[in-house]
Amino acid sequence: TEIVSTNFIDEFVKEDIGPGGRTEGMQVHTRFPPEPNGYLHIGHAKAIYVDFGTAERFGGICNLRMDDTNPTKEDVEYVKAIKEDLHWLGYDWGDRFYYGSDFFEEMYQGAVELIEKGLAYVCELSQEQMREMRGDLTTPARSPYRDRPKEESLELFKRMRAGEFEDGRMTLRAKIDLASGNFNMRDPVIYRINHTSHHRTGDKWCIYPMYDYAHPFEDAMEHITHSLCTVEFEAHRPFYNWVVENVTLPSKPRQIEFAPLGINNTVLSKRKLRVLVEKGYVDGWDDPRMPTICGLRRRGYTPRAIRNFSERNGVSKAASTVEYAFLEYCLREDLNMTARRVMAVLHPVKLVITNYPVDKSETFTVENNPNRPEDGSREITFSRELWIEAEDFLSEPVPKYKRLYPDGPECRLKGAYIVKCTGFTADGDGNITEITAEYDPDSRGGDPADGRKVKGATLHWVDAGTAVDAEVRIYDNLFTVDNPEEGDFLDYLNPDSLEVLTGCKAEASLSGAKPGESYQFMRQGYFCADSKDNKPGRLVFNRSVKLKDGFKP
Ligand code: ATP
Ligand code: MG
Ligand code: MG
Repeated sequence: TEIVSTNFIDEFVKEDIGPGGRTEGMQVHTRFPPEPNGYLHIGHAKAIYVDFGTAERFGGICNLRMDDTNPTKEDVEYVKAIKEDLHWLGYDWGDRFYYGSDFFEEMYQGAVELIEKGLAYVCELSQEQMREMRGDLTTPARSPYRDRPKEESLELFKRMRAGEFEDGRMTLRAKIDLASGNFNMRDPVIYRINHTSHHRTGDKWCIYPMYDYAHPFEDAMEHITHSLCTVEFEAHRPFYNWVVENVTLPSKPRQIEFAPLGINNTVLSKRKLRVLVEKGYVDGWDDPRMPTICGLRRRGYTPRAIRNFSERNGVSKAASTVEYAFLEYCLREDLNMTARRVMAVLHPVKLVITNYPVDKSETFTVENNPNRPEDGSREITFSRELWIEAEDFLSEPVPKYKRLYPDGPECRLKGAYIVKCTGFTADGDGNITEITAEYDPDSRGGDPADGRKVKGATLHWVDAGTAVDAEVRIYDNLFTVDNPEEGDFLDYLNPDSLEVLTGCKAEASLSGAKPGESYQFMRQGYFCADSKDNKPGRLVFNRSVKLKDGFKP
């Protein structure tokens, strides 16, 4: 069957698996290789989409690999979280789960092979000296150890492994081309000494392979056909190919680079995100303001919104920054279809319907989601005292104000009755304590019996007799500038990125809100019950996204 290419990577893959291609007739096999030193973020979602998506389109398979060849900063906590996030996003790697460290022995043997072929040598220059001697483009410098006999390198490399030398004392370097215009080809270091315990192999090893040597090795060991990565690795590709060509390996993968996702108003590097967590600027990796997958999930993002976002951004080689607003657009689009409509008042003020009987209460049946009739309906109660939004009343109207003010226009209480404001009371400081109104008993359901036009707005409300209290968390950008990566990102932290509203009033049906459940609070936006703090008897909602803004995709 013909596969329609959706991007340039697909074109390359098609060529490779097509007649006479490099991997003709082979199953497309990709991998997603996170380093378990932090949580996945929205940038990784793009890589995941590219890695898993490319395999999916070609009927291939994708491995999950923990790239854990650097012992200093990895942790099992991250391994678990990465798997969880991937499953939540809807991806599965079957039984193809690997650790880079699974191949430490083979990598060592590969290095021995290179020494035996005269393609690697043990170098005793310090890091400092090496940096100085790397030379510039016109005057390459050579290590005095470059031509040492291979027997000597073999012996020293064995002793490096045996733990005879301290960190930094010597390295193993590939012997390639000191005059190369590509610095990555000027005898790169492939092994260094590091006496640090590894999260899986413990103290078995005290020498560790460098990323540029380990990565092609892992790809080849796992029979990856296409190794898809971000463009910063483009200049590393010649060395990637050198490893694949010169070490005896079970397969010859091809590296293809694509542009990383950049997004405005946030940082997307695990190192920086970790600073936010460790310095307490946010409430953990899953703080709803974080661009991490777990933060977005807690904020109320859905897997579909994130997948749509990744897919629609496309895949190319040219770097670009995507608007955060587009991510929000994708969420709003999904929740508009799925979220149940409810009423909640964030800044409550009492509205008393003076001509409504004191002891009366009635119920209205309202639709849960006009976009999904199958979601059914529910009952809401109505009585003489209601909560309405403070901003839906003004003691003195301003031009074009169509909501409540004394002797102002008739307004519709959503799904219930028509009301007209008659007055208000205020405390000594001028704060409105109560608003009064009269209702039209012949407008049950919201439409006047005589068909007259209602000039005011339709307002949301909650019955004070049955309302439940809620805490609502309103979020804004974590950073005040478009590109916090320029300069010190901590200088741009937004001090007002979290606003906590307490004493909000929600309709009684929300009393059973389950952690992670999403709702549209009518006229306000989409909110989800917080996965950590929302409990029976304590309602806590996160605002996921406002109802709309001017964003045009
Ligand atoms: P960070 O730079 O955030 O610390 P990283 O690049 O070190 O992340 P890895 O765990 O090594 O993170 O990344 C796993 C995969 O995700 C790599 O293939 C990497 O290229 C890719 N990736 C990381 N950030 C982005 C991004 N912003 N856009 C697309 N792909 C990304
Ligand atoms: Mg990395
Ligand atoms: Mg990176």
